[in-house]
Amino acid sequence: MTIDLHRLALDAIDHAADELALDGWIRSSLVQPERSLAVQVPYVTDDGEIRIVPGYRVAHSTARGPAKGGTRFHPEVTPEEVAGLATLMSVKTALMDLPLGGGKGGVTIDPKELSELELESLTRSYTRAIAGNIGPDRDVPAPDVNTSERHMDWIADEYARIVGRPSPAVVTGKSLPAGGSLGRDTATAAGCRAVILESAERLGLPSDARVVVQGFGNAGAHLARMLQADGLRVVGLSDSRGAVHHPQGLDVVAVSATKRVHGSVVHHPGVELVSPRDLLALDCEILVPAALEGVIERPEAEAVRARLIAEAANGPCTPEADEVLVDRGITIVPDVLASAGGVTVSCFEWEQNLRGERWSAAQVAERLASKMATALHELWHVADARALPMRTAATVLGVDRIATALEERAGLAVDELAS
Ligand code: NAD
Repeated sequence: MTIDLHRLALDAIDHAADELALDGWIRSSLVQPERSLAVQVPYVTDDGEIRIVPGYRVAHSTARGPAKGGTRFHPEVTPEEVAGLATLMSVKTALMDLPLGGGKGGVTIDPKELSELELESLTRSYTRAIAGNIGPDRDVPAPDVNTSERHMDWIADEYARIVGRPSPAVVTGKSLPAGGSLGRDTATAAGCRAVILESAERLGLPSDARVVVQGFGNAGAHLARMLQADGLRVVGLSDSRGAVHHPQGLDVVAVSATKRVHGSVVHHPGVELVSPRDLLALDCEILVPAALEGVIERPEAEAVRARLIAEAANGPCTPEADEVLVDRGITIVPDVLASAGGVTVSCFEWEQNLRGERWSAAQVAERLASKMATALHELWHVADARALPMRTAATVLGVDRIATALEERAGLAVDELAS
């Protein structure tokens, strides 16, 4: 099911603003982006033709620091979607207590139809078009759907040419030689692992709890491997071709090898094949959706047998499913927290670039685990104190922090007028 992310983000903020009894001007500031830029992105094709596609960069909030958020290249990118995703990023960075705001960017194009040279031309042109709005202390892009470290390296290089000096902190998710951070590739999985282990302990789950992971890509595959190394049993896995089950636990490393060689987890020997829907209803303690949005609707929510759901994917539960899960007493670690490892290590990369430092993989891992655990404990506190479901509490905590920063700024502005 497709989810209207912008609508969802605005509804969640409205709800949080009610809970916090926020003033009118703060509400207005939260529901509309601070800065929205729509640009033409011309690029040169391999035949020497010039084509123009639309591009966007939205800074939803810089109340707590420079805007931060990914850049997606996709044929269905719209200004509304970019604004919605930028709004969610503001909540996410505030919930994680990072010194950053929220932003997002995109270009409406199918990058799979472009050659490498065309992609580079497009990315550099997009950088020139948005250069006035980005910068290490203004708005810091990162990778998102269909963009990766090579796109980020092009952005950093083009921006350096424009400003006339190296400026690696303008963008994160770069390659290591270009100033990227160690631990970035496994950051989302490592962050999700940290909140799963903390939550499992709080819920009193066994140390060899059974886990089902839907999606075996960047987030899901690393996470499944990490959890198995932690002693948990990964009893179910899936990718876009199907799902596999083994009640005693799958060998995740071996399944990865099967996928690498044969293209899918379904070719792994000695496992039971199950339907994608049955995967979500397998007997287990922990369920991790790490694939697509909107995969858990009401019927799936009624069938879930896990006690804990950690949303590594963005928006995997529909609002109706969410209600069912909350009513059934299933604990949800919402996407804004469970998938926040990526933006947290992005923040570490930005900090390393600004200070001219290089942190070791162990330093990154330790700081990430500590940030995730702190955010989870703060979230539990808000959820318990206000008797709210975790998802609502997460928005309330994030919005409260943004509102406090806005109030402080307004206070300064009033002081200036008075003096
Ligand atoms: P990916 O493309 O690397 O992997 C996606 C996986 O999902 C693939 O294994 C694919 O086969 C599988 N899949 C696709 N359709 C499926 C279906 N119908 N049923 C089961 N599996 C299916 O993507 P990713 O980077 O791992 O991202 C996954 C989710 O995590 C997305 O929602 C993304 O927004 C979110 N996320 C990722 C990151 C990150 O750093 N990678 C950060 C934050 C959030």
